[in-house]
Amino acid sequence: MPLTVISHPLAESLLTELRDKGTPPARYRRLCHRLTTLLVIEATRDLPLKDKSVETPLEPFPGSELASGVVVVPVLRAGLGMVDPVLALYPNAQVGHVGIERDHETALPRSYYAKMPDLKGKRILIVDPMLATGGTLLHALRELRALGGEHIAVVSIIAAPEGVAAVEKEEPRLPIFTAALDRCLNAQKYILPGLGDFGDRLMGT
Ligand code: URA
Repeated sequence: MPLTVISHPLAESLLTELRDKGTPPARYRRLCHRLTTLLVIEATRDLPLKDKSVETPLEPFPGSELASGVVVVPVLRAGLGMVDPVLALYPNAQVGHVGIERDHETALPRSYYAKMPDLKGKRILIVDPMLATGGTLLHALRELRALGGEHIAVVSIIAAPEGVAAVEKEEPRLPIFTAALDRCLNAQKYILPGLGDFGDRLMGT
């Protein structure tokens, strides 16, 4: 369960276009939106339901409604491109933010921004498009755990085996959803074959 690589022809074709270095930012954002939608539907398959009865025009119907709140937490900055598709699916979701950067002196990740809603009892989706070394993600996870986050899943567009292994070592039960498990990291810690710098391509920087 911890790693799910979604398998769908639409996901494959969207991801191929995302990888293409000729894809311009406007198209890139649309592709990111659509691919994230597919991933989030899979990542929220186990959302709890509670009973809700309604009347159809013909008779009573014993239906259901979502029983827990959803919190989406983008890892700044690239994760921002994955927030809107979550909100399109779950309009009542709350949004927390974490900004993590590498400390120039220690080379360790450190948090420069964090703003979270109450996490108790919520279903939390961390959206981080490129799971590369796993360092940033683990830092974010530790912050969310410290704030009481329990039901956490990670949604990434592409994952590297090195990052998945690092996260599984510390959080063996954490569900990770991705559209591709790529080959490896290069010396600069970019994913191969990957798609380059996700944030730059999304933001047009
Ligand atoms: N972040 C990116 O944007 N791309 C990578 O390949 C790795 C981390």
